[in-house]
Amino acid sequence: MTAAAPVTRFAPSPTGYLHIGGARTALFNWLYARGRGGRFLLRIEDTDRARSTPEATAAILKGLTWLGLDWDGEPISQFARQPRHAEVARQMLEAGTAYRCYSTPAEIEAWRAGHPNQTFVSPWRDADPASRPDAPFAIRLRAPRTGETVIRDAVQGDVVFRNDQLDDMVLLRSDGTPTYMHAVVVDDHDMNVTHVIRGDDHLTNAARQVQVYQAMGWDIPVFAHIPLIHGPDGKKLSKRHGAVGLHDYAAMGYPAAAMRNYLARLGWSHGDDELFDDAQARAWFDLDGIGKAPARLDFKKLEHVSGHHIGTMPQATLLDELSAFRAEVGDPPLTDIQLARLTPALDVLKHKARTYPQLLEQGHFALIDRPVQPDAKAQAALDTVSLRILSELTAALQHVSWTRDALEAAAHQVAEANGIGLGKVAAPVRAALAGRTSTPSVFDMMLALGRDETLARLADAAG
Ligand code: GLU
Repeated sequence: MTAAAPVTRFAPSPTGYLHIGGARTALFNWLYARGRGGRFLLRIEDTDRARSTPEATAAILKGLTWLGLDWDGEPISQFARQPRHAEVARQMLEAGTAYRCYSTPAEIEAWRAGHPNQTFVSPWRDADPASRPDAPFAIRLRAPRTGETVIRDAVQGDVVFRNDQLDDMVLLRSDGTPTYMHAVVVDDHDMNVTHVIRGDDHLTNAARQVQVYQAMGWDIPVFAHIPLIHGPDGKKLSKRHGAVGLHDYAAMGYPAAAMRNYLARLGWSHGDDELFDDAQARAWFDLDGIGKAPARLDFKKLEHVSGHHIGTMPQATLLDELSAFRAEVGDPPLTDIQLARLTPALDVLKHKARTYPQLLEQGHFALIDRPVQPDAKAQAALDTVSLRILSELTAALQHVSWTRDALEAAAHQVAEANGIGLGKVAAPVRAALAGRTSTPSVFDMMLALGRDETLARLADAAG
């Protein structure tokens, strides 16, 4: 194999949504290729016609797109390549590396019943060609019966399989359809895939796949079988642990950049680095950093990573992301006036939010219009005494310049004049500006809303 740029691929079976385990596999392949000027290909393994649906394919493409994993070229349909898979099986037949097997499923079952714990060896493997019946046949690989097949795995090390424990796998069924295992090898070879990075549930398949590569005299790609993701309790990840679909995380309002960061760390590490951007991930990602032990999902860590990415996101990106998030969850687009009020507040708010809903919740005051409808708690903060303080503050604010220092000074003055703490001044302001008792700082809200809108909301509350 040359040291040319690598070619990786993601090969999902379109039978459901994009699982976060699949998303992580895709991410690893994408990072490996993109960090080395290579190509990242997408192959839809839609040979199982009963279980594959166009909706599932669309969901997978949508998930990858949301996660920002762009693939090179058009997605390849494995099903569409069946003639090619059959062609290779017939070539192997001609070359003698495969043979016609006339054993019927019933015969094989009967053989197995009589030979418990033994690997099926077809009676047709070494049969005299003259004895061939005029009957349907499967094409089986003439696999080596002695010695070992070794997977030199970049994560698992050398994994050794005894050949006498691997049966002659079927390449082409008697109905002419290729087996999945055979199709994967032909496709990976034809797509010039150099690195197969996938879940370690495919490790035993790799042994059989390697036998096909060897029979064809094809270059064997680098295999990297990554441990599956476990739940926080160390058990295999399932719905009972929480969300397992990538779309669930998108809907919860985690930024795609945070998911890339978090998923990259799920099973791979670069020293102690927990927080990084795409450029760093691309530069750092390698197969050596993939651990042998299953990674555990850690929702707290995800929140932390997410908060970091929201907090460091450039303003324009954050606004785009918030708009996309609202569209995704079916909320109306932000209007110009909402954007004008929210934007100045974001610089402060983004450091406190861990998800987009949290950010929008903190920015609620900027999204509402007058008259503000206080909720019950906010209403209680607008009692007679508070209203008097509010009107004193409103009067003081008429003449100040609209800067944080001046606003703070005015509020302090009112507090001192009334012998009360600043919190007592702030409470009715929160109620008047946001209609709530839990809000960002009143000064941040005043600055974001501007003089006119702030004074108008205060006047509304004063009645
Ligand atoms: N289609 C397989 C899956 O979804 C992946 C096969 C492969 O990566 O070789 O698990």
